[in-house]
Amino acid sequence: MKRAVFLDRDGTLNALLYYADTQEYESPRMADALTLLPAVEAALRQLISGDYSLFLVSNQPSYAKGKTSLENLQAVHTRLVEHLSSREINLTEAYYCYHHPRGIIPAYTTVCTCRKPGIASLLKARDTYGIDLSESWMIGDQDTDIQCGSNAGCQTILLDYAPSANKRDTVAGLQPTARLASLEAAAAYLTSAIP
Ligand SMILES: [Mg+2]
Ligand SMILES: [Zn+2]
Repeated sequence: MKRAVFLDRDGTLNALLYYADTQEYESPRMADALTLLPAVEAALRQLISGDYSLFLVSNQPSYAKGKTSLENLQAVHTRLVEHLSSREINLTEAYYCYHHPRGIIPAYTTVCTCRKPGIASLLKARDTYGIDLSESWMIGDQDTDIQCGSNAGCQTILLDYAPSANKRDTVAGLQPTARLASLEAAAAYLTSAIP
């Protein structure tokens, strides 16, 4: 059985951006707005060296909410994968949820099982790649990431990313395994824990 790190994307790998129309920090709506956070590439390399398979698990409801096109969201993903693969960092798989329960695009407006904290993507990784979830970790900057990891039987790391503060510590009694400042710190934590 293999072990994995399930990575949230926005606020974990890349910066959130402030959009004036919603007056909120959000995921990039266009590919050229994608900026990785400091030392993310080194952290991912360290996790791969530590024998973790890497999976991206990301909620992207902006199209369902009418804020951008599906093509733009796919272009952001392509930009990310090209950036990483040109540095020989390969994700085993990326799982996106484009749904939202209160969207305005009917085809994507639904209650689904792939939207975090739903665990459908983690179960798919388990079944497709033989991942041992109990030896695996979920890393993210929101409470829903921690709920998702916990629901799937993974251990969890909550990142204290400043722009996500209003989406953190909202779920009473939620206990991440560790709480760290950055993905770099999380990679050091996970790889130094190797017996
Ligand atoms: Mg996030
Ligand atoms: Zn979904």
